[in-house]
Amino acid sequence: MERKIFQLGDIVQMKKQHPCGSNEMEIIRMGMDIRIKCVGCKHSVLIPRAKFEKNMKKVLRSTEDLSES
Ligand SMILES: [Zn+2]
Repeated sequence: MERKIFQLGDIVQMKKQHPCGSNEMEIIRMGMDIRIKCVGCKHSVLIPRAKFEKNMKKVLRSTEDLSES
């Protein structure tokens, strides 16, 4: 099974498109809630971690290039 692994600074693809037309988000804060910034319009939103994991489709670019662990 594929696990969703993400970290600060990653660019992720969301299931739902942002109103500006972009669905790429950058993780700019991690914690109980996660703050993501839209790559398209630079608008940032704070969402609960569980909701983020549900809405996140995949990591497009990771800051660290970790393969299998
Ligand atoms: Zn946007």
